[in-house]
Parts: sequence; C-alpha cells; structure tokens
Amino acid sequence: MSKQQSGDVLISEIFGPTIQGEGALIGQPSIFVRTGGCDYRCSWCDSLHAVESAYRSDWRSMSTQKIWQKIYELSGGVPLMVSLSGGNPAIQPFGELIDLGHQQGYRFALETQGSVAKHWFCELDVLVLSPKPPSSNMETHWNSFNACLEAAGGKPQSLLKIVVFDELDYAYARDTASRYPQLPVYLQPGNHTPPPGDSDQAAIDLAGLNERFDWLVAKVTADQWFEARVLPQLHVLLWGNKRGV
Ligand code: SF4
Repeated sequence: MSKQQSGDVLISEIFGPTIQGEGALIGQPSIFVRTGGCDYRCSWCDSLHAVESAYRSDWRSMSTQKIWQKIYELSGGVPLMVSLSGGNPAIQPFGELIDLGHQQGYRFALETQGSVAKHWFCELDVLVLSPKPPSSNMETHWNSFNACLEAAGGKPQSLLKIVVFDELDYAYARDTASRYPQLPVYLQPGNHTPPPGDSDQAAIDLAGLNERFDWLVAKVTADQWFEARVLPQLHVLLWGNKRGV
C-alpha cells in the first residue's frame, strides 16, 4: 500500500462502467470507486479485499484529481452515476471529488453502514444506509446512524438497504424500518461468500441464495410489508463473487 497522503483517498479499486447490482439503483450504468479500509468486520463481508489488512498492499493513496481522471477516462466523459463503496467509503475524504464531478454533470451515490457521518453527505445525490443485521456479528450504534442522516440534511435521496439471512435479521430489518418510516427500504437475501483461501473465490451457492430469496419474499408477503422491496444482487447472479465487475 502506498502510505495515505493527507487529503488523498485510499483506493482499493476503480472500475466500470458496469451496472449497479443492487438496491434502488439496480441496473443503472455506473463507475465504481471502492475504497480500502473499514471500521467493521462483518462475518459475511463480500468485499474483504477492501477491508482486511492482508490486502493492504493492493490499495493506493490517490489524490482527488487522479481519481477524477480515472472516472472520466472509464466513462469516456459521459456523466454517469459514480458509486462510492468500500470498505466504508465514509471514512475517506470525498467532498472535493463530489464537487468536481457535479461540475461535469456526474452524480454520486455512497453506500455505508452508517457508523461514520461526514459533512459532505449533504452533497451526495444518493445515500444508501446499510445497517448490518445480527448475522454480521456487528452492533449498530443508532446515534452514529442518526448523525449520518443529520449530515445528509434531507438533501440526497436516502434509503435503507438491509441484508437478510435469517429470522433474527428479518426482525432487525423490521425494527430498523419502523425507526425510519421516511426511508424507502430495500431488502436483499444474504450471500455466503467463499472463505479467504478457498480456491474459487467467485463461487456462489446459487441454490441457497434462491432459497433465501423465496423465503424472504414469503415473509414480506405474509406480513403484508408492502413498503419493502426485495431484490437479488444482480451482479452475483451474473458473475458470482468475482471482483471488479
Ligand atoms: S461494513 Fe461492508 S465492507 Fe465493512 S466489513 Fe461489513 S460488509 Fe464488509
């Protein structure tokens, strides 16, 4: 890893254009900027290459200008949606990049677990808050989560995206949605990723995934939770757990 310079962003990968694979922007052409580093360690994290220290040597410290050049080059100058993800992209300085991109007509979506609030959240176009349910073995600190919404100040389109593996996760999703009735809620069945070191890192358990999807749809329907949208991860169905697509 190049040492992170002051003002730079720690980058794991920048790729695209491809389609957004999940949540409210599913199917939308996007450039992905994935940062390195996360304050969480979810048990089922599907982005360990952007989280674990074992992968730090792959991360680069990049200035806003360099990131912008890469986005511009990949998109061919066509103003696309730029998806800021990680890791936790909220721990990186993105205010300047968002400003620069907006001047050229680009839009910015950021996905975070809601553990760190930044003043520039109000400059985003879309804020995806993805609090982690019990199966992640993480604990949600609602004060920090609320601070993210306060920082957004009602300006970006804000929404909830919650991964559901089991009954406990489902109960958590319901509780979270009831705390924030103003936010649209997107649910997605959990995807068990291969453990580090497994020879096929792109492999998916499609049968298990479909089973959880069926179960989740049945739960939501039986509960008449009609405000919730249940979506698969399109990129996982298309490309498995392959990186950089
Ligand atoms: S918050 Fe996201 S990137 Fe961080 S460990 Fe959890 S799933 Fe992985």
